[in-house]
Amino acid sequence: MNIHEFQGKKLFAQYNIPVPQGKAVYSVDEAEQYAKEIHSNVVVVKAQIHAGGRGKAGGVKLAREKKDVARFAKELLGKTLVTHQTGPEGRCVRKILLEEGVDIGKELYLSILIDRTYSRPVFITSLEGGMEIEEVAERTPEKVIKEYIDPSVGFQPFNGRNMAFRLGLEPEIAKQFIAMAGNLYKLLTQKGASLIEINPLVITKDKRLIALDAKMSFDDNALFRNEDIKALRDLDEEEELEIEASKHGLNYVKLNGNIGCMVNGAGLAMATMDVVKLAGSEPANFLDVGGGASKETVKHAFQILLADKNVKGVFVNIFGGIVRCERIAGGIIDAAKEVEIRVPLVVRLEGTNAKEGLEMLKGSGLNLQVASDIWEGAQKVVKLVNGK
Ligand code: ADP
Ligand code: MG
Repeated sequence: MNIHEFQGKKLFAQYNIPVPQGKAVYSVDEAEQYAKEIHSNVVVVKAQIHAGGRGKAGGVKLAREKKDVARFAKELLGKTLVTHQTGPEGRCVRKILLEEGVDIGKELYLSILIDRTYSRPVFITSLEGGMEIEEVAERTPEKVIKEYIDPSVGFQPFNGRNMAFRLGLEPEIAKQFIAMAGNLYKLLTQKGASLIEINPLVITKDKRLIALDAKMSFDDNALFRNEDIKALRDLDEEEELEIEASKHGLNYVKLNGNIGCMVNGAGLAMATMDVVKLAGSEPANFLDVGGGASKETVKHAFQILLADKNVKGVFVNIFGGIVRCERIAGGIIDAAKEVEIRVPLVVRLEGTNAKEGLEMLKGSGLNLQVASDIWEGAQKVVKLVNGK
């Protein structure tokens, strides 16, 4: 789960990580009112959407005088902002963050995330922060510093000193940096975050270290431990179909292709997506109906697939183990009673009760093609969709 910058900054403040004075507002009136309370002359108006790249896309405005705040608020609120992270459809800006304008001396980069390969948290930091960090990482990887933390002992001050030394920070800044890194580690582990990214982390002209941006992601499996974090979920920022899927306990991620995939097991789902690509098309989604899928779950899954307008063909690829194939067949047949299957359907069933499942599908009068393995299935569905 992702949260907004303003929510991340509230958490930062709770953990003694310095942030600019600021508040999220939802209307032009509210913006005008709050601007008066900001103690700097310059006020920054920032679109709050779950995507970065706002600066370059015009989603961060600098009001040199308080009277400009209302104009910028009007410009941003209700606007669809397209950044390199939103995809071409963009995101509607429903709230903005008003913030004190900070006198920037230097922009650094600092993040902490879980490195799955090494099974431990890692800090990533660089003197070259700001809006071009991806390019820095690509062109001059030596400017990106990593510090792994042993989770059995947790963050130690020497971890902070290592980073500060390698960055070449002067003592006054280094002290603040080390404290901040320790607080970030606490925040990550106590709140179940999988990523905290501060870009830019700035050194102000008067030598203070302040987090100017805040991006946080949380491990969904840890949300049960932190009700306060769970409450930060913003459904406006999530795909409608993904919300629907989560209600039915389905692991569904919408993608941009045109082949809807219904699969059981995350590994098989990944493999199916790969094979669809190999056959010459793109998957429209990742969908794992899970091991214990009931007929009901399969029905919902199938309806969610068909609700995606981009889906031009569906590939059902099931390996019956715990989930029995006739349940899958039953779910598809039930779904077809409620929504019209307007696209070609290719089904591959293997494993427990595969024969019974296929018999049911054939007997149902549904227009579908059967495949005997994953490669044949992918090729068939791609051919039906591409018409070649
Ligand atoms: P994004 O990462 O989505 O582009 P940021 O929050 O990083 O958005 O803002 C983009 C840029 O705007 C920053 O790199 C910084 O230069 C400037 N900026 C953001 N917030 C402030 C602020 N409070 N004061 C001064 N400059 C700011
Ligand atoms: Mg940023």
